[in-house]
Amino acid sequence: MTPAEIIASANVTDPERFVKSSLTGFITFAKIDFNCPHCGKKYSDEDDKYVNRCNSNKDFCTSIKCDCGEKFKMTYDITGKAVSWK
Ligand SMILES: [Zn+2]
Repeated sequence: MTPAEIIASANVTDPERFVKSSLTGFITFAKIDFNCPHCGKKYSDEDDKYVNRCNSNKDFCTSIKCDCGEKFKMTYDITGKAVSWK
């Protein structure tokens, strides 16, 4: 399949296809929004900055210093959803 065919056949309501698409690397339906658990500030990993930081870490998570002055950790779970915690 070409990337265009995968995009054309993509159906985000099908969980199995959702995972397969994520694994191809061509396209993902990852949820890239997450919030600071301290102040609730919204983050969006649009330029893959945080996922790349996760990938470069052995434990596949990264710590972020928020504007509120607190630090928190974030990672992506197995379904490609961004999660954050204190
Ligand atoms: Zn914050």
